[in-house]
Amino acid sequence: MIRTRFAPSPNGSLHLGHAFAAVTAHDLARCAGGSFLLRIEDIDGPRSRPELAQEFRDDLAWLGLAWEEVPAQSTRLPFYAQAAERLKAAGLLYPCQCSRAEIVAAAHQVGPDGPLYPGTCKGRDIDPVAAAWRLDMERAQQLAGPLEWRDQQAGVQLATPAIFGDVVLLRKDLPASYHLAVTLDDAADEISLVTRGMDLFAATHLHRLLQALLDLPVPVWHHHPVVLDEHGRKLAKRRGSPSLADRRRAGEDGAELATRLREGDFPYGLSLGDSVGMES
Ligand code: GLU
Repeated sequence: MIRTRFAPSPNGSLHLGHAFAAVTAHDLARCAGGSFLLRIEDIDGPRSRPELAQEFRDDLAWLGLAWEEVPAQSTRLPFYAQAAERLKAAGLLYPCQCSRAEIVAAAHQVGPDGPLYPGTCKGRDIDPVAAAWRLDMERAQQLAGPLEWRDQQAGVQLATPAIFGDVVLLRKDLPASYHLAVTLDDAADEISLVTRGMDLFAATHLHRLLQALLDLPVPVWHHHPVVLDEHGRKLAKRRGSPSLADRRRAGEDGAELATRLREGDFPYGLSLGDSVGMES
């Protein structure tokens, strides 16, 4: 049975782009008699605003969607820590004390999440207290071997996680990072079809590697186009895209808006000028 999810981060109100993501995930599951889940991804430290979770539920109901809610990420920290211990025990993580400024100054390449870590702390005797933990990409790839994954539209992809370099899997303040948490949660929630915007296509290369390292089931992915503004950029609250909550409170018909999204009534595409997703 197909299980999809909508996994918003409560660091800003939802906008039309999120509505499209939610409607897409909902319809792909429901058309096949499957389940559509809501998971609140609230581990973004001070940027997380818990009160937004209720606003999101009200937005989804307004759009005419029905869902099953699974536990929020903030309740799963011990679960992430356990997986991280497993990776540490396999010698796949190393602590890093570098500041962002040091990394920016030393990096020679840029990956999907920003400057690639030049490996400064690898092999050094670093105090793990208050350190971030990075994946030893070379070792991880050696262990996992060649990997593939499948996107419903783009077809079978050869996984190229090395584009992320030695990525942070445990932040200094948290026993997880977006990449580790989302991969573990999608497995725990038995998501069979991971739907999300094309702007996160690259992240899937890394998630596929984490699945191999942690013996997790491998879903199929559906990366959908994102809704664009008049400049061809992904919508963002900080650029003035009206929130769903504003539209709802102004009396707009949410079910009608969902229909317009289904009919392709808005400009879709790949976002230009934005390298990283997960903004609000
Ligand atoms: N919490 C992430 C976001 O809001 C979810 C991304 C994903 O679907 O993997 O962008």
